[in-house]
Amino acid sequence: MVLMKKETPARHLFSRRVDKRSRAEMTAYLSGHFRYNTMNSWNRSTSYACNMKLYKLGLDRGTEDKLWDIIQVPEFYERLNERIEDFNWQHNYLWQAGWNGRSGGYLVLYQGGTKPSGYRSYCTKCGQKNYTSIAETGNWCGVCNEEARVDYIKPPMQIFSFPGRDVDMDEDFEDWSLYELQQRTELVQEFDRLADDIVAEALYIAQNHSVEERTVYMPTTELVLA
Ligand SMILES: [Zn+2]
Repeated sequence: MVLMKKETPARHLFSRRVDKRSRAEMTAYLSGHFRYNTMNSWNRSTSYACNMKLYKLGLDRGTEDKLWDIIQVPEFYERLNERIEDFNWQHNYLWQAGWNGRSGGYLVLYQGGTKPSGYRSYCTKCGQKNYTSIAETGNWCGVCNEEARVDYIKPPMQIFSFPGRDVDMDEDFEDWSLYELQQRTELVQEFDRLADDIVAEALYIAQNHSVEERTVYMPTTELVLA
């Protein structure tokens, strides 16, 4: 007797192999990549993107239904956003992935960077950051009232992005060097792999967790006759 394996629809994969010795193949990959608005439709700037809407992922009905429940849970997005944060960090925030679309159904590739935040010191007790050095203003913290401020050894950087800046819009890549084409292809492939990783993480969460409704009782004050 042959046991028929229940057929599961092939999960949609965003990443794909591209021959990085071939200008034609890289150009076709970049020009043919799905794109989405970086801000909104009237801004008209677009960038490389992945359509992450659940019904587009090629999942079986049961998994899709379960994910519809799970996406209501804020903790779910926190876990997916850790993947995005890793991607952004690996690219020194020059390239950042972010959600866009009415219900955040699209993962979009953004440009950005880092700059000095201007903070010189912070409070070791409450974490309050300060634009002055303790050499100027002493170590007393006006927020928590403790003498706990210290100067940063390495002042923190601030992350910024250009949400309205398009990426390779209307680009035909003709005057790009082979190296430039390879670099850009590599970047967009990594972005596609991030989308695959996010789906894999979502499926892992769906398989290992269920959504529970928890009722939280708030303490109330009752008036009683004494
Ligand atoms: Zn403080």
